[in-house]
Amino acid sequence: MEAPAKIRTILHSIAGKTFGQEAARFGDVYDPALGEVQARVAFADAATVDRAVNAAAQTFPAWSATPLGRRAEVLFTFRALLKEHAAQFAEIVSREHGKIVSDAEGEVARALEVVDFACSLTHQLKGELSENVSTNVDTHSLLQPLGVCAGITPFNFPMMVPAWMFAIAIACGNTFVLKPSERDPSASLLVAELFERAGLPAGVFNVVHGDKAAVDALLAHPGVAAISFVGSTPIARYIYETAAANGKRVQALGGAKNHMVVMPDADLDAAADALVSAAYGSAGQRCMAISASVTVGDAGDALMERVVARIGALKIGPGHDRANDMGPVVTPAARDRILQYIEEGERSGGRLLADGRNLRVPGYEHGFFIGPTLFDNVNPSMSIYREEIFGPVLVNLRAGSLDEALAILRANPYGNGTAIFTRSGAAARRFQSEVEVGMVGVNVPIPVPVGYYSFGGWKASLFGDLHIYGEDGFRFYTRKKVVTSRWHESNAGMNLGFPTHK
Ligand code: NAD
Repeated sequence: MEAPAKIRTILHSIAGKTFGQEAARFGDVYDPALGEVQARVAFADAATVDRAVNAAAQTFPAWSATPLGRRAEVLFTFRALLKEHAAQFAEIVSREHGKIVSDAEGEVARALEVVDFACSLTHQLKGELSENVSTNVDTHSLLQPLGVCAGITPFNFPMMVPAWMFAIAIACGNTFVLKPSERDPSASLLVAELFERAGLPAGVFNVVHGDKAAVDALLAHPGVAAISFVGSTPIARYIYETAAANGKRVQALGGAKNHMVVMPDADLDAAADALVSAAYGSAGQRCMAISASVTVGDAGDALMERVVARIGALKIGPGHDRANDMGPVVTPAARDRILQYIEEGERSGGRLLADGRNLRVPGYEHGFFIGPTLFDNVNPSMSIYREEIFGPVLVNLRAGSLDEALAILRANPYGNGTAIFTRSGAAARRFQSEVEVGMVGVNVPIPVPVGYYSFGGWKASLFGDLHIYGEDGFRFYTRKKVVTSRWHESNAGMNLGFPTHK
C-alpha cells in the first residue's frame, strides 16, 4: 500500500540493529481513537526471520554458558529499567491498542511481576542430587536451555504477554525471537532497547514483525527449538500442530469465553461492579474478560438492573484521557466484526438491554468506538454465546441452580478463566472443584494468577502440557538431563545383568 510520506516506520530489531526499511510488505498501525493510520510496520519475510534466528543461534553458546548470577544481574537491571519506563510503556500501549492509559499501567505492572519471578533463576534452575543410588553411584539432574525460542503474541497485551515468555526463556539461558502483534508492535522495541541498556548481549533478544508469512517461517525454521504462542483458538491449534509436526516444543494458548456465575446469595452490588469492570475493561479485549454471566435463580433480574445502571455511568473516549473508563477497539475490522455479532444477537432473539452501536465520541468521530452492550435471555445456541466476540459485549444466561450453571460451563468448548460470586463456601468449593476451567476466581472476576503461579486455560484455551510463566515456564524453557556417575577407587567388576541399586 502507499503510505503517506511523513508516516513513522516500525522496523525489526535483530542483534541490536534495525532492519526492514526496504521490506516488500508493510502493515498499518492505527490510532484507534482517531481512526487513522499512525504508522506502518515492516513485515518480515523468510530471509529476515532466518537472519533473526541465526543471530539468536550465534549468541546461544555464550549466553547459555553465562553464569547464573550474571544472568540474574542483567534481569535485575532490566527490571529496574522497566519500572523506570513504566509510564512510557503505558503511553505506547495505549496509543496503538486504544486501552485507557491507567489500564495499560496495570499491564506493565503484571509484566514486572513475571520479570521479578524470572530474577529467581538462580533458585529455579537448581537440579537434584541423590547420593549413593547404588554402591558408590550418585545421580543428579541438570536443567539445560533449549536453544533459540520464539514467541508469537496477540495484540491485546503487547507488553505483558511477550514478557510471560521472554523473561523466563532468557533467564533459563535461551535466546529469543519475538514476533509481536502487527497491530501494536512498538512496545516490543522499547523492550529490546532496555535489554541492551541492561547489558544483555546483542542477539539474545530479537524482534521481527509481520503476519502469517513471518510466523510460518518461524514454525518451519530448523534453528528454532521451541514456540510459545498466545492468540485466538484457530491459530493456536494451527501453531500447535505445525510446530509439533516440525519437531519443536510448543505451548499455544488460545481464545476464551469466560463465565461469571452469580448465585442469589451473592453481594449483588459487588457482583455488578465486578461484572461491569471485567466485561467492559479494555473494551472487552482481554482473554480473561468476562463475556458471559450466568445468573442463578433470583439473581437474574436484580443483577441485570444493577449492570444496566452502571453501564449508563461509564465514560467512553480516547485512551490518553484517564477520566475515561473504556476506549475504542483496536481496528476497523474488529469494530465491524463486533457490530455484526450484535446484529446476529438481536436477530437470534437475545434481549438487548444496552446497545453500544451508534455511539459518538465528540472529537473522535472516526474512532473505532463501540459502547458497552448487554444481552439478556441468551441461550447456548446463539452465536453471541458460542463464539468469542472479543469486544464490549456481555451476554447473560439464566440458570435455575448451580448444577445447571455448571452444566452450561461444561458444555462450552473454552476453559480459560471463570468466577463465581456467592456468600456460600460450599457453593464456591464445589464450583472450584468441578468446573473444567484452568483459572478460577471466587468473588474475584479476573483471576489472572500472580507471576509466581502459572497462567493457562483448559480445553480449547490451551494446546500443550504446561501453563505459561511461573514454575511451568521454567520447565517449558529447559530440558532435563539426568547423570548417573560412579567415582570409586576400585573397579566394580564385570556384570552383564541390568544395573540395580545393589
Ligand atoms: P490472533 O490469533 O489473530 O493473532 C495472534 C498472533 O498470531 C499474532 O502475532 C498474529 O500475527 C499471528 N497470526 C494471525 N493469523 C495468523 C495465521 N493465519 N497464521 C499464523 N499466524 C497468525 O489473535 P489477536 O487478535 O491478536 O488476539 C486476540 C486473541 O488472543 C483472542 O482470541 C484472545 O482470547 C486471545 N488471547 C489469549 C490469551 C491467553 O492467555 N489464552 C491471552 C491474550 C489473548
